[in-house]
Amino acid sequence: ARRVSARIGGISESATLAVDAKAKALKAAGHPVIGFGAGEPDFPTPQTVVEAAEQACADPRNHRYSPASGLPELREAIAAKTLRDSGYAVDASQVLVTNGGKQAVYQAFATLLDPGDEVLLPAPYWTTYPEAISLAGGVPVTVETDDSTGFVATVEQLEAARTERTKVLLFNSPSNPTGGIYPREQIEAIGRWAVEHGVWVITDEIYEHLTYGDAEHVSMPVVVPELADTCVVLNGVAKTYAMTGWRVGWMIGPTDVIKAATNLQSHLSSNVCNVAQRAALEAVSGSLDAVADMRTAFDRRRRTIVDLLSAIPGVSCPEPQGAFYAYPSVKELLGKEIRGSVPNTSVELAALILEHAQVAVVPGEAFGTPGYFRLSYALGDEDLAEGLRRMADLLKEAK
Ligand code: PLP
Repeated sequence: ARRVSARIGGISESATLAVDAKAKALKAAGHPVIGFGAGEPDFPTPQTVVEAAEQACADPRNHRYSPASGLPELREAIAAKTLRDSGYAVDASQVLVTNGGKQAVYQAFATLLDPGDEVLLPAPYWTTYPEAISLAGGVPVTVETDDSTGFVATVEQLEAARTERTKVLLFNSPSNPTGGIYPREQIEAIGRWAVEHGVWVITDEIYEHLTYGDAEHVSMPVVVPELADTCVVLNGVAKTYAMTGWRVGWMIGPTDVIKAATNLQSHLSSNVCNVAQRAALEAVSGSLDAVADMRTAFDRRRRTIVDLLSAIPGVSCPEPQGAFYAYPSVKELLGKEIRGSVPNTSVELAALILEHAQVAVVPGEAFGTPGYFRLSYALGDEDLAEGLRRMADLLKEAK
């Protein structure tokens, strides 16, 4: 008999975490590695949030189990924040507080999918989605997009991929890994198509506040209110408040779905750490000043990274509109010789760059689209410039 079940044995390691771990290990061993792998802001968590957590530690109420669905005051505050930030009116009973957005992703699929149900998944996609779908018994059906359209899927593409087994569309805008943002009209068209065909939408809005230039974040159930009964919104504090390690996210949906997901969570993990929930309460009920400052810094780095990447022969980089990732194509470099080896895939090219330039990037294979790199620009301006300089120096040797 097998030692590890087929279901769990079939899960692959998170490629983004693997790249980050490798870069950190090399760094710890004394190598001057610059990592573009991690999807986390390099800013500290706002001081008011940290203080709320310090107080929470000393409060004996927080030393005990609390409701699996989340602290009632946090659920209220998330409902209020959702109305404030995206205009979506929901009741606190529609909110389930989860251990990071990641648990919300898994629980949303687990709650909606029966074995064999198909999920339309626009690619490039965040590396966790297909694994979470499969683990929940579903079948990911990818819908490919490319840089010619700014990596947004059209209704026609979605309709062409729809079958009678299609249950859910996974929607993520601003997108990890591309930084693409769907325009309002397209979000509305997709929402109407979903309602018309009875397709549920799971919309991951974790990068809602990281938009640049004229791009705006639009929440699908706000522009298509009829969708509310078949829509789950995912979000969390990680990216907006520089709180990746605190592990607080949430899912918002119709009460029957939230009730069912809460039952799952009550057996899986129970309440999220109360101290972290108190910190999240402070974050979501406070001002958005800290994220405004981060957005200014990200926007500056975004323009720098696009310029520096575009200056490398063989690399082409569309301008990302949101999140903190650039997603350049490196297809023209594949098959060329660099320092005596000939990388034929973006995985091989990324390994070569880590070895010879000591720069870590995540290859597009992790996101369902080989031939690209994902570079997070949530790192300091100096590291960013130095990392890109090293990469450029190496890649210009390609022949
Ligand atoms: N959704 C997307 C698109 C993400 O990129 C991430 C984190 O990288 C998450 C959800 C989950 O974030 P967390 O579990 O840290 O809240």
